[in-house]
Amino acid sequence: MSKLLNIKELSKNYLTKKQVVCALKDINLSIEENDFIIMVGPSGCGKSTILSIIGNLEKKSSGKIEIFKKDLKVGYMFQEDALFPWLNVLDNCLLGLKIKNNKVKKSDIDYVKYLLKKYGISNFEKSYPKELSGGMRQRVALIRTLAIRPEILLLDEAFSALDYQTRIMVTKDIYNILKNENITTVMVTHDISEAISMSDRIVVLSKRPATVKKIDTIDFEMEGRDPMNCRKSPKFSKYFDSLWKELDVDIVLECTGFFTS
Ligand code: ADP
Ligand code: MG
Repeated sequence: MSKLLNIKELSKNYLTKKQVVCALKDINLSIEENDFIIMVGPSGCGKSTILSIIGNLEKKSSGKIEIFKKDLKVGYMFQEDALFPWLNVLDNCLLGLKIKNNKVKKSDIDYVKYLLKKYGISNFEKSYPKELSGGMRQRVALIRTLAIRPEILLLDEAFSALDYQTRIMVTKDIYNILKNENITTVMVTHDISEAISMSDRIVVLSKRPATVKKIDTIDFEMEGRDPMNCRKSPKFSKYFDSLWKELDVDIVLECTGFFTS
């Protein structure tokens, strides 16, 4: 694998009228092409800040981000699927391209249609979001993001609005799509099981200001890995125990849903 991004000694202070909020302190992380990295850590520790800085939506205070690809294209997906209710599926998927290029090329429309077909949505091209299940809406939201052909995808608690069963199905779907399309992914989640079932590496962050406490490599050494069969592997509980030990008690309670904000 070749290197895509190198984050070195990254720190971020937010300056508000009243105070300085130190969000990140000396974060080091190297991201390879086709990596699937998941970050876990307590609420408010700085996870979204890291994604925003990688995506150039927010400025860093100090440190360095080396990018090894020219004009790196970044895609985002946030908690809500954010599809526009008044646009049909196809127009929702073309929206990112329209915003970017004004006029959408035929090759881009064909690519979106190809993705919709490949991932079982082509019969719903003319349907509106409210006519789709939660899982399908997430798939459409992902296809809209993929339409711009991102080289790195940032997922910020993208599945947390879904109910548990839908969430398990959606993570399987999304995982398979991202692996098929060879998309490098950096994802934030509260759910340790989700993190283990999807990622190649898990970055455990401390309380704010976020520092990297530990990076766990996840390797189930199985053919045709997907988030469902990982959960059944004996290695799963080993990874879970190891992460559990590393997390601060209050993070654990939060990750397991005892306290949710
Ligand atoms: P997380 O995603 O881990 O919940 P965030 O990255 O959103 O955390 O926020 C980290 C800290 O920075 C929090 O204390 C938050 O209140 C603060 N913060 C985030 N964005 C801003 C901002 N634009 N201005 C001031 N403080 C901010
Ligand atoms: Mg956040």
